[in-house]
Amino acid sequence: MKKKVALVTGASRGIGKATAVKFAGEGYHVIINCAHRQQELLQAQEEILRYNVTCTAFLGDVGDFDVCQELFDRIRQQYGSLDVLVNNAGISYVGLLQNMAPSDWEYVLRTNLTSVFNCCKLAVPIMLSAGKGKIINISSVWGNVGASCEAAYSASKGGVNSFTKALAKELAPSNIQVNAIACGAIDTEMNRWMDDDERSRLIEEIPAGRLGHASEVAELVCQLSTENSYLTGQVISLDGGWI
Ligand code: NDP
Repeated sequence: MKKKVALVTGASRGIGKATAVKFAGEGYHVIINCAHRQQELLQAQEEILRYNVTCTAFLGDVGDFDVCQELFDRIRQQYGSLDVLVNNAGISYVGLLQNMAPSDWEYVLRTNLTSVFNCCKLAVPIMLSAGKGKIINISSVWGNVGASCEAAYSASKGGVNSFTKALAKELAPSNIQVNAIACGAIDTEMNRWMDDDERSRLIEEIPAGRLGHASEVAELVCQLSTENSYLTGQVISLDGGWI
């Protein structure tokens, strides 16, 4: 049987890398991407290639439509199909709103939300011609409830959640499922700014008594990629009972 193909944006480290490695372990060809740290991306590619699958590493900002166009041209040429799109690339911004520059607002929105529009817009025609597809957006519990000092981040992820529900309705008749995972606190570089005290206080708030692992998000992404074509338009919280 032909191997399936998955694109994971922001896959040089953290949740994206764990997801790409998990897909490779399940026999998918994988396209990985990041915008800045090429060395990390190549390291991830090396790990994925050990699984006897193809891995394309693409350096570029998924917030930029022209860059995404190049990425999808490569996917069409190299693979001719795309079974799963995981919109994972994202950045956080922690700070008071009154201190936030308009350019920082734009950067957060473009990286976390416009990137999802860009990749979905380009993936959908490929999935339509195949008559099937799965889109999984990596979102945040802050997109559901809002976080103090993270208004832009919360707005971007709230946008991802609504986008997920809307696009799911648009694409359900075409057998393409769109879901989001609203992550709680996952132990990645994104949370390394906390000192030991802040981390302990956060853990005290989480009923599961710990941060989540990137591998746990990866596992849910893979489940959503293979199972149940009736499950669509959902924003599934994965947060250890936190929010
Ligand atoms: P990391 O910072 O560890 O990884 C982020 C990834 O995104 C990196 O590969 C980074 O690579 C890439 N990236 C950043 N900007 C761009 C861009 N413009 N274009 C392409 N790639 C980009 O974070 P996580 O793994 O923790 O986060 C992954 C996703 O999970 C994000 O969407 C985040 O919002 C979400 N999330 C994470 C939570 C957590 O607690 N960790 C909680 C809730 C949601 P590079 O910098 O080299 O470009």
